[in-house]
Amino acid sequence: MADQLIRATAADGGIRAVGAIATRLTEEARRRHKLSYVATAALGRTMSAGLLLVSNMKRAESRVNIRVKGNGPLGGILVDAGLDGTVRGYVGNPSIELPPNAKGKLDVGGAVGQSGYLYVVRDVGYGYPYSSTVELVSGEIGDDIANYLVNSEQTPSALVVGVFLEAGQVKAAGGILLQVLPKAARDEALVETLESRVAALSGFTPLLQAGKTLPDIFQQLLGDMGPVLLPETQLLRFHCGCSRSRLMGALKMLGEAEIQDMIEKDNGAEATCHFCGEVYKASRDELVELIGELYGAQS
Ligand code: ZN
Repeated sequence: MADQLIRATAADGGIRAVGAIATRLTEEARRRHKLSYVATAALGRTMSAGLLLVSNMKRAESRVNIRVKGNGPLGGILVDAGLDGTVRGYVGNPSIELPPNAKGKLDVGGAVGQSGYLYVVRDVGYGYPYSSTVELVSGEIGDDIANYLVNSEQTPSALVVGVFLEAGQVKAAGGILLQVLPKAARDEALVETLESRVAALSGFTPLLQAGKTLPDIFQQLLGDMGPVLLPETQLLRFHCGCSRSRLMGALKMLGEAEIQDMIEKDNGAEATCHFCGEVYKASRDELVELIGELYGAQS
């Protein structure tokens, strides 16, 4: 199934539901960054969470950045997700691997670390981004994002995100976010019902692997609450806005002395995009030309 995001409402608009299938984009991130199993799970869960979080923003340029900084060996996660369905991200130490945790699952909490911070920035695209920080709860990502939504955005939320790998590849990834909207937020029984239903799922990826679609999953979770699917299915993909011309622009900003240094020491320049792993090269001649442009700009 193609990577996609679907929205729904339930309980007469008191509940907002979003589901995302992110299998292919998580596999693409794994390949691009040569991620270990546990790093794939950590980044994949965070990318799914980013896509779920950005889905309730309005302006087309809206983006959500999630930064996870824990005390574990993974060394941090950064994800950038857009309302346009694009997402990119990376981790500090892509190759670290850990033994499975006590439940026999990939030890994302151990890799991220149980102690540290989760930073979320919501940016509508014209300045004044809204940013907020909470302490990590478990480092498992899903719990941490749910805690952020409840404590920082005051929206009672139940969330599950997951990544399943087999034979070195991502076979299923994505998540579901259920939120109780302000008109129903005082209905504590409703909030608890959603939390217990999501907790009873025992994960998101087993549902995908059992062949369930997002509408099937909404039906399973909210079938007795009058779920209404929104008609639009949004496609999701891994995408990074980096380009060769952006690299050249960044080099130019360094100024003549630095560029001259690159020409003499390295006979050129090479830069790797953190977000997507793309490698860009500039030759000696191109750097010389760049210095010429600097002079052109000054005269
Ligand atoms: Zn890039």
